[in-house]
Amino acid sequence: MSTHSTTAAPGSPAAPSTLITGIGSLVTNDTAHGTGPLGLLTDAAVVIDAGTVVWVGPAGAAQAADERFDAGGRALLPGFVDSHAHLVFAGDRTAEFNARMSGQAYSAGGIRTTVAATRAATDAELDANLARFVREALHQGTTTVECKSGYGLTVEDEARALRIAAGHTPETTYLGAHVVAPEFADDPAGYVDLVTGEMLDACAPYARWVDVFCENGAFDGDQARAVLTAGVARGLTPRVHANQLSYGPGVQLAVELGAASADHCTHLTDEDVAALAGSATVATLLPGAEFSTRAAYPDARRLLAAGATVALSTDCNPGSSFTSSMAFCIAVAVREMGMTPDEAVHAATAGGARALRRPDVGLIAPGARADLLLLDAPSHVHLAYRPGVPLTAAVWRAGVREL
Ligand SMILES: [Zn+2]
Repeated sequence: MSTHSTTAAPGSPAAPSTLITGIGSLVTNDTAHGTGPLGLLTDAAVVIDAGTVVWVGPAGAAQAADERFDAGGRALLPGFVDSHAHLVFAGDRTAEFNARMSGQAYSAGGIRTTVAATRAATDAELDANLARFVREALHQGTTTVECKSGYGLTVEDEARALRIAAGHTPETTYLGAHVVAPEFADDPAGYVDLVTGEMLDACAPYARWVDVFCENGAFDGDQARAVLTAGVARGLTPRVHANQLSYGPGVQLAVELGAASADHCTHLTDEDVAALAGSATVATLLPGAEFSTRAAYPDARRLLAAGATVALSTDCNPGSSFTSSMAFCIAVAVREMGMTPDEAVHAATAGGARALRRPDVGLIAPGARADLLLLDAPSHVHLAYRPGVPLTAAVWRAGVREL
């Protein structure tokens, strides 16, 4: 690829506008401007200015800009929207993964290992670790990442996790109800009281979302309802870890409470699928978790066939899915979960944006934030076609060229 810069014209804003041209294949996710659900355009151009997409169309009709970037026939798509990640933590669970891959089963209890390490870490260590993962994700094309608390499980440790997360992303999620804190092992009701009371008060100022791990070994349906409704009363919007390890009430609860997403959705009844399809709650699938726990994948085809909105996300966390690669999730979703390459790319961009209720990301259209991923490939299909191969050629986040 080549870039050519010219001096900014008098009167233009401090940040120069940029014409990206020579785009062999452009995923807009804007069905009004391209073909199919991905809104595909070929031989296209995009103009970005002041952090925003201002023009999209055929390369031959592009307007002038201060700077020009030649995509050299490569594919351009919206930056990935990773709507489910757990990135405020310390420590390492290599031994647990190694044991699991040697035959042991996964349970929710492993979270407590990370809780102990996270509590022992300094603010600076947690911040540096989080910054490293946000950067790691950005280098793989992720321009929006959600980040949950949930490895502190005390009032102060949960609040500091969210305070640190808020320095890196606006998509912060209060997950005090990840597992019952070890101090409350004999008093789970007392822990729910803490999560819905003093801990919520301390965390709400730093959080946009409230989440709960609704699962055997974590929180049952009644407890999950208490956590979510308390969060809603404090102005947070719910999302739910639902139906990951077993059938359960999580999906129905998510739909009933108008949650933005029900995440995992691995064990679904026909009623669960119908509830998701009939609602605005996004089914967020996290294949890294099944991959890393050697478990059966969720059936994306069944959800799509019913008309549910599907998102793909990494679930990046040190225990059950230690990947920050959305491309990896796309490849697994195509190979193992019945998704077409187009559907998987849509789920990893527009789907994630829906799951975070962000109309400004996950698409390339006038008015959208200029979050762009240029692949070192002629088509988005290569994300599944060339699994494990680094394909990032360039990334812009809010109009700033990051690499
Ligand atoms: Zn999770």
